[in-house]
Amino acid sequence: MFTSIAGRAVLVTGGSRGIGKGIASVFARNGAKVLITGRDSDVARAAAAELDALAANPGEVSFVQADVSSREDCRRMAAIAQERLGGIDVLCANAGVFPDSRLADMTEEMLDEVLGTNLKGTVFSVQACLPALARSGRGRVILTSSITGPITGYPGWTHYGASKAGQLGFMRTAAIELAPSRITVNAVLPGNIITEGLAELGEDYAAHMAASIPLRRLGSVDDIGYAALFLATEEAGYITGQTIVVDGGQVLPETLEAIAAAEGGG
Ligand code: NAP
Repeated sequence: MFTSIAGRAVLVTGGSRGIGKGIASVFARNGAKVLITGRDSDVARAAAAELDALAANPGEVSFVQADVSSREDCRRMAAIAQERLGGIDVLCANAGVFPDSRLADMTEEMLDEVLGTNLKGTVFSVQACLPALARSGRGRVILTSSITGPITGYPGWTHYGASKAGQLGFMRTAAIELAPSRITVNAVLPGNIITEGLAELGEDYAAHMAASIPLRRLGSVDDIGYAALFLATEEAGYITGQTIVVDGGQVLPETLEAIAAAEGGG
């Protein structure tokens, strides 16, 4: 039995939709105080209300409008977390964008957008939360990276892959720098996860993608939320600078035939 995380102060960037909302939901359902962020305040407000209705301690989920690519917004979001939650024990640096662009067509603006949110946004979020995480005495930083970049590639995502691999480079040195403050820094690497955006593409699309995953299903946002929850527990306190791949085994097969061969073997 893991020690409860009830009452811990948790900030989830990009918690208004998708994986971030799933992470926020798992923490709220386990009794944490949760602050979510996003750029669109209407979406974030609605998500906070929805999450609060599921929370073990109602009244403890709220939102703040903030753009992680802005250092000033990150400072404001950390100040609001301090004021509203009484500190920050866990930062889930999750906000990310993944617009598609082939290398040949990629403009500097496209590159800046992806690196600005996914990589600089991660650095700005962690920097802004550092004093509060250090005061916690058991601060946890949990990054949402991806299998794309650190392990795999996908056409149209050179900039995205670079940003997600970059998060891991950042993580390894940050983990060493922050260890004296008893802050751990780890990352979850999701595979293909069903979010609102993916669900809109339809069941056929999801079934086609599931065929290349050994566990034969796409991941849920809860699958990522529980990996993040584990990294936030007391019991995971000796883990730092590490990654957890949550992908149903997607990166394992050498070829699609390997999956078919497993079916044949029972
Ligand atoms: P999503 O459904 O599009 O949600 C993205 C969230 O981030 C939203 O809350 C969005 O709110 C917020 N956001 C985007 N840009 C932001 C910015 N500049 N500042 C603050 N918030 C911002 O995406 P998702 O699929 O859940 O992805 C979440 C994370 O998981 C990303 O880091 C992504 O790279 C990673 N990931 C996803 C998958 C997957 O299969 N879905 C797989 C691997 C990794 P606003 O738009 O209102 O700002």
